[in-house]
Amino acid sequence: MKRSWFTFSIVGGAVLLLLSLGALQYRWLSRISATDGERAHQHVSEQAERFAADFNRAIQNAYFNFQVGAETFDNGNWAPFNERYDFWKAKAAYPTLISEVHFFPADGSSQPLRYDVTSRSFVPADETPDVAAIRTKTADKKHFTPFDEATLTLLLPISPSEPTIRHVMLRSPIPPDPEPMRMPEAFGFLAIKLDEATIKDHIIPDLRNKYFPHDEFRVGVRNGLGDNVIAGLVGKTVDAEAPLFDLSPDNIIFYANKDLVNAVEGERHEEPGLQMEHRTFSEIRTESSNSNGTMQVEIKRAEPGHSKIFTAMTTDGEGRGPWRLEVQHVDGSIDDHVASALRQNLAGGFGLLALLAGAIGAIVISSMRARTLARHQIEFVSSVSHEFRTPLAVIYSAGENLADGVAKDDSQVSRYGDLIKGEGRKLSSMVEQILDFAGANSGKRRFNFAQVDIKSVVESALRDCEPVLGDSDVETSIADLPPITGDRVALSQALQNLLANAVKYGNGRGWLRVTASNGNGSIRVTVEDRGIGISKADLSKIFQPFFRSREVVDAQIHGNGLGLSIVKQIVESHGGTVSATSEMGKGSTFTIELPQTPK
Ligand code: ADP
Repeated sequence: MKRSWFTFSIVGGAVLLLLSLGALQYRWLSRISATDGERAHQHVSEQAERFAADFNRAIQNAYFNFQVGAETFDNGNWAPFNERYDFWKAKAAYPTLISEVHFFPADGSSQPLRYDVTSRSFVPADETPDVAAIRTKTADKKHFTPFDEATLTLLLPISPSEPTIRHVMLRSPIPPDPEPMRMPEAFGFLAIKLDEATIKDHIIPDLRNKYFPHDEFRVGVRNGLGDNVIAGLVGKTVDAEAPLFDLSPDNIIFYANKDLVNAVEGERHEEPGLQMEHRTFSEIRTESSNSNGTMQVEIKRAEPGHSKIFTAMTTDGEGRGPWRLEVQHVDGSIDDHVASALRQNLAGGFGLLALLAGAIGAIVISSMRARTLARHQIEFVSSVSHEFRTPLAVIYSAGENLADGVAKDDSQVSRYGDLIKGEGRKLSSMVEQILDFAGANSGKRRFNFAQVDIKSVVESALRDCEPVLGDSDVETSIADLPPITGDRVALSQALQNLLANAVKYGNGRGWLRVTASNGNGSIRVTVEDRGIGISKADLSKIFQPFFRSREVVDAQIHGNGLGLSIVKQIVESHGGTVSATSEMGKGSTFTIELPQTPK
């Protein structure tokens, strides 16, 4: 009782410890995964912004590089434009980005010009659908945007004169400036058509490899209509997004200086003697366009009268470019990824705890088994000693009588002799049984397999058991059976154990039945009695070594609890099975099934 309380408290303590470890582990892992999630969100947003900044810089380079004066188009002096064009080609990271350049006079009716690369001059442009579309667009001053998405063209206003500005300031149109700056009329528009293939096949893939090099994220690009330009995302969850074609002016000061166009590689050389380029004006400061995210930059040089104004737009109030970079984790979203990582970590952690719990359980069970086994062994020792004591006492007293000459005539001497012989046989069979059990358990028992006729095995077992069976009523029903492969002696011993038990536990009724029949690919031998029977609880234990049911111990029926375990060992060595059915007070049936060809 004391011991079981001790075990109970150890097990209870271990369970409590495991539960609190589990709770702690859950808290730690949840916290770690929340931090990981935040960090991943931040990292992806930063990478997406860097991606967009590089992309936008390439576009802005192509845009601001071409700021030439209205005089160029007024006088047909193409040298300044050629210089800018050559500079662009030499410095740009993607020289194929610009496919065509047109000039559209601001009046909307004069002939548009096209830059001819071979003659290095602007020539009258053909009236293509793109040209017509851009002409309409540039005529609509109210809805002017620096990027025409439909034709993939950048529109750069060319201004006629230089206004004088005294200071540098950045203004946001929200809230509306009480004194909006007056913009000069555009002289015309330079339309820089971009090459879609360069953007799709080079710029975007290069940036994707640079900022999202591992296949952990899908990268997609949508245009202003929401269509995929570069398909990448599955589902609607977006982990990070950033505007593309964002011509916001934060880099304008660099683009204002033509020597800084190589900033596309990320290097920026700020020239101290900033040489201001020509004007980029447009009439975008209307009341209705105030929500357009328009920014104006005014730059003042040291000498009065040389300041410039630059204007650029971020196209919509949410600061989104017409195209949008979208990034999504391959697991659906960062949150999904973090959740599944958490699940995996929890499964791993709880798996370890479960293993620990299993190990503790196994230790407890095996220690309980060891205790039961130890108890059975003690019972075994005492019952075997008891078993040995009776025949030894008989032999001792018979021997004493003989020695003392108590037995005088021959018949008496022979009776004592028979007595000693019988008790000696009992003793030796008990010793044999114990040795068999020990041999089988140490794996030393060897079987001599040969073709065996079961009918003859049953008959010889019955014959050898005659002294035990005495005048019991033995019914037999033995069919003609095919021979099987087995060890004749061992099989006979197994049967004898069952026959002896049927008599021993036969409740004095003296009846038993032995049958041998042909089963389905196996041979079935049963030994049936009408004895004391076995309780349901004991039925599962009777084949365990040293087990004896409480009833037979109480009834002082002799035995050592090894007979059935030896039967089981023998039958299983033949690839067969042994089982028992029983009803208390009515009798028991033991069945041996042997395969015709052992496995
Ligand atoms: P032993 O007979 O020496 O006790 P066994 O291994 O042969 O050992 O049997 C184990 C136990 O199974 C017995 O102690 C008895 O409780 C029960 N048992 C075995 N055979 C019978 C039977 N024919 N009828 C009732 N109980 C049986």
